[in-house]
Amino acid sequence: MHAMKKMTLILVLMTFLTASCNQSNRNNSDNTSVKLTDNIYGDHSDQDPIPNEALTFDARIHFVNFTSEQQEKMEEAIEIIKMVVATEEFRSKVLNHTYNGKKTFVDNGGYSNAQIYQIILDGAERLLPAKNNTMEAEVELYYAATNVVGYTYASSNRIWVNTKYFNIYTAAGVAHNLFHEWMHKLGFIHDSSWSSSRDYSVPYALGDLVGEIGKEFL
Ligand SMILES: [Zn+2]
Repeated sequence: MHAMKKMTLILVLMTFLTASCNQSNRNNSDNTSVKLTDNIYGDHSDQDPIPNEALTFDARIHFVNFTSEQQEKMEEAIEIIKMVVATEEFRSKVLNHTYNGKKTFVDNGGYSNAQIYQIILDGAERLLPAKNNTMEAEVELYYAATNVVGYTYASSNRIWVNTKYFNIYTAAGVAHNLFHEWMHKLGFIHDSSWSSSRDYSVPYALGDLVGEIGKEFL
């Protein structure tokens, strides 16, 4: 792993990954809501059956440094992710995600929305490349009095989650953060500091989406 790539992938999630952030993201999305609606009834028909892999999507998470209560919350978050991936809403919003009026994600790795959806369903992490339809990772809890919610490295299967936030988040909030970090395990990156486009990157946009749809399952 050369230094620059490693640096890009030192991933920091700021405190505003909470409800207030979702709110501002919703407002951003509203700007493109007309196009979004058009697209939903365009080339991706809602009549297509949801792919079986969305319904069978599974997770295998290794817990490090969890109390039983914390593990219960993380397991609930994992169930929320599975339920969200199985929804038509999730599929539709991934396929129809727009940035600047174009059906795309920022930092999409050269992949179309449909390819990104398939990459999620495949569950082939960069370091665990089998297409096993399963989200796999180690998650380690730690405490730090910082504004970092969680982070990971391209060179590791592990995701570190700060209990400062984990302990006060709802399970949907935990799901939001975990899915964001897992997008990094699939190879997707984003700007290391805030930019107007960063919310449209795969990790931010889809973490937000999982958190938003996940609230329905609390
Ligand atoms: Zn990130």
